[in-house]
Amino acid sequence: MKKKQLEMQLERLKGFSNPSADKEQYATPASVATDLLYLAYLHGDLESVCDLGCGTGVLAIGSALLGAKVVGVEIDPQSLRTARENATRLGVEVDFIRGDANSVSLKGIKTVVMNPPFGAQKASAGDRGFLRKAVEIADVVYSIHNLGSEGFIRRIVEPCTVEEIYRIKFPLRRCFAFHSRDVKTIEVELYRIMCRRNGTTRQE
Ligand code: SAH
Repeated sequence: MKKKQLEMQLERLKGFSNPSADKEQYATPASVATDLLYLAYLHGDLESVCDLGCGTGVLAIGSALLGAKVVGVEIDPQSLRTARENATRLGVEVDFIRGDANSVSLKGIKTVVMNPPFGAQKASAGDRGFLRKAVEIADVVYSIHNLGSEGFIRRIVEPCTVEEIYRIKFPLRRCFAFHSRDVKTIEVELYRIMCRRNGTTRQE
């Protein structure tokens, strides 16, 4: 599937119907999800994929559209229902499971794709636990973070390493009362993190 086609498909998905600010529920815009997924696709990393904190499923479903076997993990049952409806709408199969990203136990995952809670709002799990879990279960991780997160991320994921960082535009739509403008574009960082054990990846 071409990049533009993927983006058009992902634009059809339903977002959070009743987003919780505490859980930092904000659906990744189709353009951003497409950038992340196409990077993973071009690296040959979309085989067995986990979307941690999958929300309404855009990264999980996009991975499935690009041929991956996917599991999506989400703590909020209402979002999971929407994610399942979204997968049906686009005709893909994703194993959506309810779980806490900090403690879920998964095997056989090559790649984690995620847009974790940034930890900006109180009571959020924050991105620390998500990053730790991601590098525990996968060989390669694609993740979106605030600008200027590099030092923090390098420390958290050690001994895994940050291989690539891209600055991408992220259109924020108004969805919480404390957001003032209708659409505001911010910049975020997209990370590719690799886990090598004794100089080789775990797959080798
Ligand atoms: N990945 C989705 C949603 C991003 S918003 C997307 O890209 O569109 C972050 C998501 O993480 C929300 O759906 C929120 O409910 C979920 N979340 C927050 N804490 C969690 C936890 N501890 N375990 C699993 N999911 C969690």
